[in-house]
Amino acid sequence: MPHIGNRQYFLQHLAQTSDSPLLLEIERAEGHFLFDASGKKYLDLISGISVSSLGHRHPKVLDAIQNQLDKYMHLMVYGEVVQHPQVQLAEALSKVLPPNLDNFYFVNSGSEAIEGAMKLAKRFTGRSVFIAQKNAYHGGTQGALSLMSNAYYSDPYRPLLPNIQFIEAGDTEALSEITENPAAVVLELIQAEKGAVPVSKEYIKSVREFCSRTGALLIIDEIQTGMGRTGTMFAFEQFGVVPDILVLGKALGGGMPMGAFIAARGVMQCLSENPVLGHITTFGGHPVCCAAAAAAVNTTNENLQNFRVAEKEILFRENLVHPKIKNISGMGLLLAAHLDSEKTCKKLIRSALDEGVFTDWFLYAPDALRIAPPLSITDDEIVQTCRVLIKLLNS
Ligand code: PMP
Repeated sequence: MPHIGNRQYFLQHLAQTSDSPLLLEIERAEGHFLFDASGKKYLDLISGISVSSLGHRHPKVLDAIQNQLDKYMHLMVYGEVVQHPQVQLAEALSKVLPPNLDNFYFVNSGSEAIEGAMKLAKRFTGRSVFIAQKNAYHGGTQGALSLMSNAYYSDPYRPLLPNIQFIEAGDTEALSEITENPAAVVLELIQAEKGAVPVSKEYIKSVREFCSRTGALLIIDEIQTGMGRTGTMFAFEQFGVVPDILVLGKALGGGMPMGAFIAARGVMQCLSENPVLGHITTFGGHPVCCAAAAAAVNTTNENLQNFRVAEKEILFRENLVHPKIKNISGMGLLLAAHLDSEKTCKKLIRSALDEGVFTDWFLYAPDALRIAPPLSITDDEIVQTCRVLIKLLNS
């Protein structure tokens, strides 16, 4: 058998997603750091794309996984038997969500959660039109891909779902020109892959009004912004809006694969009648993942004040000042440092790796450096990391 770190085997036998993978061989990860085969350590500035918000291998998450492993793993397809970790996770989430978001469908990924949310909106409203935002990212499956305007990524897979209308996030006029009542408006409060660009509160207010007036559901994708990343458990708390369907993923599982779409019970019921089995999944709500997620939700909630996300945002902003940094967008610890060119950004990412800082760019903003570290990153680590980045920009 080839050694796990065998690059040639990886390149030849594992499906590749680009022609230029990083090829870093990580042997272990702990807290805020990744360690490669030589023992070199890297500060994780991106948390596996907003997943390891509690850091790697958080003890509370490990304990929950271990406890559950000692009881059972898979029992039965989703929804048939009462699984304690699912109930525990629903209870943990109920404590941090408004009363209308009281019914949980647990799935395997962010993309599947988006698919479920779309199906639910179609069933509940009996309509098929969706309003999506230009430059949004919602996932890799075909329903999610249909909600994405970027032709480079979606055109090769057409035909996708029909009846999707795209508007510019923030374009209230475009919203008012919509004639057909849609099933839902889907949006991210911070367009992450555009380069961490928040939408305005005024726009969100108009969208909420539009949905309430037309009977469309408001689906908010908090796959990247949820679980404390912007300083509150969920970003919607800071935008003065409550969704009809909330979609979660990434950090929800504390490092395990988890997604969820969440709605009022009266809405969710559509999936269990006429026809029954409106969404079915074998592994969705896997007990080990739910146990990890319940620990992640509780731990994040208990530590939200200690994380001081808003102060850490300021620290990044104060320490990342350089002529090659055009601006820093985002909120809390979902930030993008927009550089003067894509070349500068890609060079910075490669050289930061040599200096022990692991980071990345954004799908639709290749000139922007991704800053989404574990929420427990220390002030000292922020200052040191910024120093490294500034030094590299000067070289
Ligand atoms: N929505 C957003 C906002 C995301 O950032 C992502 C993942 N990058 C997804 C959906 C899809 O999640 P997953 O990769 O778990 O399917």
